[in-house]
Amino acid sequence: MKQRLLFLGPPGAGKGTQAQRLAASEGLLHLSTGDLLRAEVQAATPLGQEAEAVMARGELVSDALVLAIVRSRLEQHSGGWLLDGFPRNLAQAEALDGLLSSLNQRIERVILLELDDAVLIQRLLGRGRADDNAEVIANRLVVYRQQTAPLVDHYEALGLLSRLDGAGSIEAIEARLAALLVD
Ligand code: ADP
Repeated sequence: MKQRLLFLGPPGAGKGTQAQRLAASEGLLHLSTGDLLRAEVQAATPLGQEAEAVMARGELVSDALVLAIVRSRLEQHSGGWLLDGFPRNLAQAEALDGLLSSLNQRIERVILLELDDAVLIQRLLGRGRADDNAEVIANRLVVYRQQTAPLVDHYEALGLLSRLDGAGSIEAIEARLAALLVD
């Protein structure tokens, strides 16, 4: 199995759920920048205070801040990992490349979780997180299309991309994901 994975896809596609399950079953480090940022907000650290208002608007926290979080985690970890919610724009993807080459590591596979906007919006509205109201969800989808979606072409050109249908039950998606990762 691949040990260094990246999960890409719009908000609500199920990245976090699938990433968490796969990381647990394969013994990989699950690195979710969204979760790590929410923990900083919760703990009211200076970093969390800087991120809170940006997250509440559905915009992206600064690249430098997010990169610092990812760098410290990856530098302290020698095994496999699964990145979820990072990179979110081309600058972050380039910064990640630099960080990984300094660690002598590389991305082995990028999984793109795909789902229709109507289903995404329904799922997010049902979840009820602080940034899951209609207006902020709409903005997060715009930010995804404009800033994150270009990464699909980027990783496809590198031959790293696999597409995964995000529709259906958690177990059904988990089974399709496992089938994608057998080689
Ligand atoms: P979702 O993918 O469902 O929108 P996340 O938990 O991945 O949720 O992210 C929630 C918020 O955290 C984002 O809207 C953004 O403000 C911030 N965030 C998470 N990851 C990043 C990142 N890599 N770069 C910048 N901001 C981020």
